[in-house]
Amino acid sequence: MAIYAPKEFLDRDIRKLKGVGEKRAKLYAKLKISTYGDLLHHYPRGYLDYTETVNLMAQPIGSVVTVRAVVDSKSNPVRISGGRTISKVYCSSEDGGELELTYFNNRFAPQKLQIGQEYLFYGKLQGDLLRRQITNPVTVLPEETTGLTPQYPLTEGLSSRMLTTNIRTILNDPEFGMEESLPDEMISRYRLPSGEDAIRMIHFPADQEEIRQAKRRLVFEELLLLSLGMKLRKQRRRVISDNVFSCTDAGPFIRSLPFRLTDAQKRSVEEIAADLGKNEPMSRLLQGDVGSGKTVVAAAAVWMAWRSGFQSAVMVPTEVLASQHAETFRSFLEPFGISVGLLTGSVKGKPRTELLSQIARGGADLIVGTHALISEGVEYRRLGLVITDEQHRFGVNQRAALTQKGNLPHTLVMSATPIPRTLSLILYGDLELSVLDELPAGRKPIRTLLVDDSYRDRYLGFVRKTVSDGQQAYIVCPLVEDSEALADTMSATEYYEQLKKGPLSGIPVALVHGKMLSQEKAEVMERFRTGKIRVLVSTTVIEVGVDCPNATLMIIENAERFGLSTLHQLRGRVGRGALQSWCVLVSSNEGDTARERLKLLTETEDGFAIAREDLRMRGPGDFLGSRQHGLPNLTVADLADDERVLIAANDAADELIRNDPELSAHPVLKKNVEHLYEKTDATIN
Ligand code: ADP
Ligand code: MG
Repeated sequence: MAIYAPKEFLDRDIRKLKGVGEKRAKLYAKLKISTYGDLLHHYPRGYLDYTETVNLMAQPIGSVVTVRAVVDSKSNPVRISGGRTISKVYCSSEDGGELELTYFNNRFAPQKLQIGQEYLFYGKLQGDLLRRQITNPVTVLPEETTGLTPQYPLTEGLSSRMLTTNIRTILNDPEFGMEESLPDEMISRYRLPSGEDAIRMIHFPADQEEIRQAKRRLVFEELLLLSLGMKLRKQRRRVISDNVFSCTDAGPFIRSLPFRLTDAQKRSVEEIAADLGKNEPMSRLLQGDVGSGKTVVAAAAVWMAWRSGFQSAVMVPTEVLASQHAETFRSFLEPFGISVGLLTGSVKGKPRTELLSQIARGGADLIVGTHALISEGVEYRRLGLVITDEQHRFGVNQRAALTQKGNLPHTLVMSATPIPRTLSLILYGDLELSVLDELPAGRKPIRTLLVDDSYRDRYLGFVRKTVSDGQQAYIVCPLVEDSEALADTMSATEYYEQLKKGPLSGIPVALVHGKMLSQEKAEVMERFRTGKIRVLVSTTVIEVGVDCPNATLMIIENAERFGLSTLHQLRGRVGRGALQSWCVLVSSNEGDTARERLKLLTETEDGFAIAREDLRMRGPGDFLGSRQHGLPNLTVADLADDERVLIAANDAADELIRNDPELSAHPVLKKNVEHLYEKTDATIN
């Protein structure tokens, strides 16, 4: 049972370890190491590789190398300016080269070196053609190392060598032993080393292959625990509720629509309907690229709630989106006599009181709003369905707060961020999944161009032409104000002023950005949607969910400043109607990687492919922003890189849970899952 057994030994206080006193224990505490077990699970972040010693004279100056050399002579320390001392040691290398070692303020290291003895010196090569030189080299005796020396995450006062010594003491203790936490069958099926071997190999690898094997095991185990945690969470949410919807046939609603649902939409509505009819709350994720038509699927669910006598709530991240959604839902649902209320922070005073009492009385069948929906004082009469849109913007906790408003309501979360399948296994492993993998028919692909700003006259001409053809355009800039501006980066405010006076004079242009009051924003957006404004200059506030099918052109300035997924979301604001739409990415950034990156957008509209690339380039932390709440931190696994292991671990977790839903036959595994989640205040309940 890999990790925390035998309990008594691995749970021992680190101060009991030979060589660890109060002082070192305090330093360990800074690294959150307080027991033997903690120390063993403090893994190296990398290794110095002494297995490859080099031919000294053939190495270019400036390279970082390990050299095998014999000490010939030493100089006495000499005082130099600033009260410092300098000592020199002269060596000859295997290939007959001369190596000079220079030590600043370090008498001890050169003193320890024995004349005539061979050492491995590691460091950056300096010097000239005749004599090579290394300053303050890392030094080891050839027999002292396996060749690979671990480098640990440290804190001031601790060295990797100290950790190595302390870890070796633990591993050499006759009482040391680790029981295996993974079932034998799993170990052999996935050809994993045992937990104990993995720990030995990660700290004292014989070669690169051992590091690889150890990592594979540790990553597998970590992802397995993570995955098991999500599945337990899902399991535990399995409760009996009396929110069983009597109506699970959305037929009449679907027939009332002005368009035919796509097959993906139909399938999703059916999956949702099946959940709603159960006496167990639904937890479902509806994932679909921008423009795939998630809103109408949500409306179908709301319709079934209403027919079954329940209220619904739809929570969205911004006020602009809330008012727009309220409109959309009204257009779908009011013909049936369903009443839709809009609750945001800016609904105040009497209207708010009235709305709240309506909600409490059950006079409002659907309430659309921002997080105001979960604020205190909002009481629902019979909340049976909770929907959150653009869910990646909300934390798990906010989501939970809304479900607490009802009596175990069904929940549907919608996300347009196409999260690679592997990552969504983790992020949403506790949810059922419906995917809209198909766009409504008749959509023309958005044509995307990449240009530099020498084309400005041309693309602004394109804006004018679009407007004179009766359509509308967005112009997006990364920043609001000059003060934030980096050189060459266009601020929205400044650009807006320029455009209005010059290239777009005579055209109704407006500006919208995140620093405006929500009400102002909502008004501008509304005027754009109804066509009174023809060109909208904005920051990324329009990223989320705004729908104006008549807008067919989007210009994105300084496109290199945005993440690919953000650009893809932005671009999704056009191409919503039957007309050909265009997206012009403007980037004068010369850098090849920036251009390469942007070029991908001109080649594909597949949000998943784009997200995958984005994830690869930025890593999951950035990709998900700070909104990863509710997920434990991973110490070894890298969600972007360890895809194959992730899939294997997920399958293994599935099988375990299927045969043993509460992991009763695997108590240590279960305990380790809890431990992983506790460490980060994440919860599996
Ligand atoms: P998203 O998934 O990005 O939230 P929306 O729900 O806003 O997408 O839908 C985008 C647009 O497509 C809306 O104008 C919507 O009315 C329209 N739409 C949705 N489903 C269909 C369909 N099956 N056929 C035609 N248009 C559709
Ligand atoms: Mg949407």
